Amino acid sequence: MSIEEDLIAWLKANLPTSPRLDIGLGDDAAVLNGYCESNPVVTTDMLTDGVDFVLEEIDPRQAGHKALAVNLSDLAAMAAKPVAAFVSLVLPRHGSGKLSATELAIILYEGMLPLAERLGIVIAGGDTNTWNGLLAISITAIGETTSRGPLKRSGAQPGDQLLVTGRLGGSILGRHLAVEPRVAEAIVLHERYPLHAGIDISDGLALDTSRLAEASGVGAILDLPAIPLAEDALRLSDRDGRSAIEHALGDGEDFELMLSVPDEAAQKLLRDQPLSVLITRIGEIVADAGLWQLDESGKRMPLAPLGYQHQGAK
Ligand SMILES: [Mg+2]
Repeated sequence: MSIEEDLIAWLKANLPTSPRLDIGLGDDAAVLNGYCESNPVVTTDMLTDGVDFVLEEIDPRQAGHKALAVNLSDLAAMAAKPVAAFVSLVLPRHGSGKLSATELAIILYEGMLPLAERLGIVIAGGDTNTWNGLLAISITAIGETTSRGPLKRSGAQPGDQLLVTGRLGGSILGRHLAVEPRVAEAIVLHERYPLHAGIDISDGLALDTSRLAEASGVGAILDLPAIPLAEDALRLSDRDGRSAIEHALGDGEDFELMLSVPDEAAQKLLRDQPLSVLITRIGEIVADAGLWQLDESGKRMPLAPLGYQHQGAK
């Protein structure tokens, strides 16, 4: 059997079904149901060996998990519930290490399935090819909004407080592989509080903050001493001499949520702390366009939008 036939046999035996999936594997395309009333939210992200992970240094399950998780983090940023994912793999023709190409594919799926199950998303289709290059994983995820509609980047208003979940910086020490997309958290917050805007921190706090501000036609001030630092940011700082704050601002791949929340609701949210993960105020939205920082003395100065810039048009 070809790789594709082997893999499809495995997938048929191992992928869970879903009432949202009328037709899944085994036909030319998938048919999802229930989209008459809610507009589908669609996102796609491609990960490659050598850029997003180093395959020979990790368990391939981690690459599978990450590839699905980063897509779900984008759905979380829109406060959308995940419904279905489509997985396209380009496998190295001879596999990886001792693994054949088919074995590698199965292990990648094994990395995705626990997360898919936990967040209620069905893997509804995809494509598998081999080539003489490194592994590439492209996933497209589809979600649906709650009755509140999508949470956009573009709704921030002057006077909003900027809040962030979790702790930031140093994800390269391992957290970038063990991404926990904040899907449930985003939906809870969007349903309970009048959030104005949101984004997931994928490319660096400073860069992603500037993106949210720009999309909203406003500016943002980050209160640097208030930024919650991950232990990894401190460890990495010890190692490379860059400050932990710089790591928090520029490292990216934290996959935490940043939210722009009107002042009164933000104060309530901070008091309530409704999630199991900490929510911290890290700054505010101002009318003046641009990205600003408050230093320890409370002085306002321009802040460079540090972060990971993808090559190409993204
Ligand atoms: Mg994003």
